[in-house]
Amino acid sequence: MSYFENFLKANQAYVDLHGTDHLPIKPKTHVAIITCMDARLHVAPALGLALGDAHILRNAGGRVTDDVIRSLVISEQQLGTSEIVVLHHTDCGAQTFTNEEFAQQLQQDLKVDVSDYDFLPFTDIEDSVREDMALLRNSPLIPESITISGAVYDVDTGRVTEVK
Ligand SMILES: [Zn+2]
Repeated sequence: MSYFENFLKANQAYVDLHGTDHLPIKPKTHVAIITCMDARLHVAPALGLALGDAHILRNAGGRVTDDVIRSLVISEQQLGTSEIVVLHHTDCGAQTFTNEEFAQQLQQDLKVDVSDYDFLPFTDIEDSVREDMALLRNSPLIPESITISGAVYDVDTGRVTEVK
């Protein structure tokens, strides 16, 4: 049995609490958040967000990739967001390997050559936030009118600290 069956059971209780109000498709706060997939980071309660409030884009590390840019352009130009928050976190899985080590592992375990692939690992958490904010600022698809902020979430305390 997969864990998925537990999800279907849990969802029955959620539906009872959810109600049937139809929320607008455009996020109420006009904010898009790019953050990590880490299981210890529950973005909505950590930032006081409710259903319909914000777009939350997640991947390994919360890194700005071409597909994140794709989503942000849709978020901004189709769905009215005008602010982006880059939120990385302490003790991130993207800090636990280098591209070289990971490529060796995948060569060994999967027999695949990914030696030219960048998995976007990082060492310094604040540097990674600044790097991703700079990628956004330098993208021709993200206009200067978009407000960009960065922060680090502490997985042990739940505290969010701004990165300038
Ligand atoms: Zn992470």
